[in-house]
Amino acid sequence: MKPIYLDYSATTPVKQEVLDAMIPYFTEKFGNPSSLYGIGFASKDAIELARSQVAALIGAEDREIYFTSGGTEADNWAVIGAARSRKNKGNHIITTKIEHHALLHTCKALEKEGFVVTYLDVDDNGIVDPAQVKNAITDQTILISVMFANNEIGTLQPIAEIGAIAKENGILFHSDGVQALGNVDIDVRSAGVDMMSMSAHKIYGPKGIGALYIRKGVVIENILFGGGQENKRRAGTENLTGIVGFGKAAELAGKNLNDHIKQVRDLRNYFLEQIRSRIDDISVNGDLEKRLPGNLNLIFNYVEGEALLLHLDIRGICASTGSACSSASFSPSHVLSAMGLPLEKVYSSLRFTVGDFTTKEDLDLVVASLVEIVSKLRELSPFDKDHRMQSTQVLR
Ligand SMILES: *Cc1c(COP(=O)(O)O)cnc(C)c1O
Repeated sequence: MKPIYLDYSATTPVKQEVLDAMIPYFTEKFGNPSSLYGIGFASKDAIELARSQVAALIGAEDREIYFTSGGTEADNWAVIGAARSRKNKGNHIITTKIEHHALLHTCKALEKEGFVVTYLDVDDNGIVDPAQVKNAITDQTILISVMFANNEIGTLQPIAEIGAIAKENGILFHSDGVQALGNVDIDVRSAGVDMMSMSAHKIYGPKGIGALYIRKGVVIENILFGGGQENKRRAGTENLTGIVGFGKAAELAGKNLNDHIKQVRDLRNYFLEQIRSRIDDISVNGDLEKRLPGNLNLIFNYVEGEALLLHLDIRGICASTGSACSSASFSPSHVLSAMGLPLEKVYSSLRFTVGDFTTKEDLDLVVASLVEIVSKLRELSPFDKDHRMQSTQVLR
């Protein structure tokens, strides 16, 4: 049985056109882009084409795109590079409690270097309040970093408003755009971002390749040292096949953006309607309007999320508790906790993300499975509807 994949926010399959574009660059077109002969020049040209394809997707200029090893490196570079380059101006960074670990753990590392970080709360819909960003600014603030869209609950943040605040105060503004890319119409100019992180494998491209948009004129320190690649800002022989794949994926995403958004949103809404009509006591985490089109994060009250996940897996259904590491560590989602969700609801939450290869038939099968599994798990649950232990059931 083919698995039903509802975890497109974790990663996506590489589209056939993307793979087809990549293949020649493994074999006959393998030249080092820095080499001064034909196949080297051809590789360089392929990289520059990909750069313009990625730039076009976000309204940037080609020279504002710097390829990295992924979203994680882009986040690291933006925050570390900005902080170190401005340490004579101040030592304060503002971010949020719901960022990806690539951002949060980087901030933690900078705290050890003497930087001071404010981690802002979000409201109970999972959205950052721009007024709080403004209030957190001090004369030491050198960087604001707020994600475009959250990976667990899909909430879209008020980026343009925060960008305007950053600009008024002369503070650099970075946004992790990994989840928003290809799912939201992004224009870096109107968003007012100075830097934005991207990753290919969330938009049907290959893993291990991403990019950082750095607005022209913005200077940050390098974090990788070596050769003069990427306009002397990111050393290391380019991931040629990855870059070509990222470019193709970006081109496809741009061409199909409106259709993709509508298709995925309709499927997500259909899925939610079906679940609502057939399962009691569920609710949605995060704002349902200001949200990525494919994201659904649900609380199945009185059900242990990990148990639900494992039962779904037995039936070949891939979903997620939201944070990729929580399954190993059993630590509760930092995003749901930051929204003020009580622990029992955090542990009852599951993320489903639909994408371009999801079908209505898939969703019908998943709903049928959910109906069965949820009712079984609720029968077994030691908690009643007030979250009190039901001693009779514990003994059974
Ligand atoms: C996936 C993800 C990343 C990390 O990107 P990689 O390319 O996997 O390193 C960073 N931020 C967000 C919001 C993500 O969803």
